[in-house]
Amino acid sequence: MVDRLQGREVGRRGGFELKRISVAIDGPSGAGKSTLARMAAKELGYIYVDTGAIYRAVALYTIRCGVSADNPADIVGLLEDISIKLGYKDGVQRIMLNGEDVSEEIRSSDVTVRASVVSAIPKVREFLLGMQRSMAEKGGVIMDGRDIGTVVLPGAEAKIFLTASDTDRAERRYKELVEKGTDTSFDQVLESIRQRDKRDSERSIAPLKPAEDAVIVDTSGVGLDDALNMVMKVIRERM
Ligand code: C5P
Repeated sequence: MVDRLQGREVGRRGGFELKRISVAIDGPSGAGKSTLARMAAKELGYIYVDTGAIYRAVALYTIRCGVSADNPADIVGLLEDISIKLGYKDGVQRIMLNGEDVSEEIRSSDVTVRASVVSAIPKVREFLLGMQRSMAEKGGVIMDGRDIGTVVLPGAEAKIFLTASDTDRAERRYKELVEKGTDTSFDQVLESIRQRDKRDSERSIAPLKPAEDAVIVDTSGVGLDDALNMVMKVIRERM
């Protein structure tokens, strides 16, 4: 159901053929991955795949089924009942869980916490691996996550590890939450970011870490336009 751009596998710039490459953007939560990946994809006419949303959909399903986070075997037992599809509406990614659009529901704080728990279960990662790889088969894709450059697309032509200090990331996330009217404090947001960083980088399977050939882009104190320029420069150099 992924609506790919049909037709040309190459673009043209100044008479040169531009390859439609695969771009992996990894990094901790709140570094601006999804915002920048979406903007870069739009600029290039690529599809954007938010892999965090896929883990979140699995997490939502396990919550709905009333399964405990402490019981990986029960979570694994549910996988065969799960069908996840990505679609695009007005260029924006929508995520379908067993035919239902859950794009908004997967953003709740319960789902956020559960996603980083289910994503540490090897069988869950295995289950989602083939699906993520098939989305990048034809190139012309920007995929963001935690292990895209290391595990999902080790052959990606461009790999970016996008990071920023935890206080910078917490500040951005806190602003977003306040704008949405969520009742929280900066300290709470910072603490939850630190816990998630710890869980995501200390897990034994596909821990969050830069691929050896990734370019580290640190956006601490950098505005959105400059961060986008930094990302686009890395991508364009590899096209
Ligand atoms: O990026 P997002 O915050 O939506 O991801 C939710 C959770 O899914 C992360 O905290 C992480 O544990 C997990 N995840 C992952 N591998 C990915 C993408 C997300 O483990 N490629």
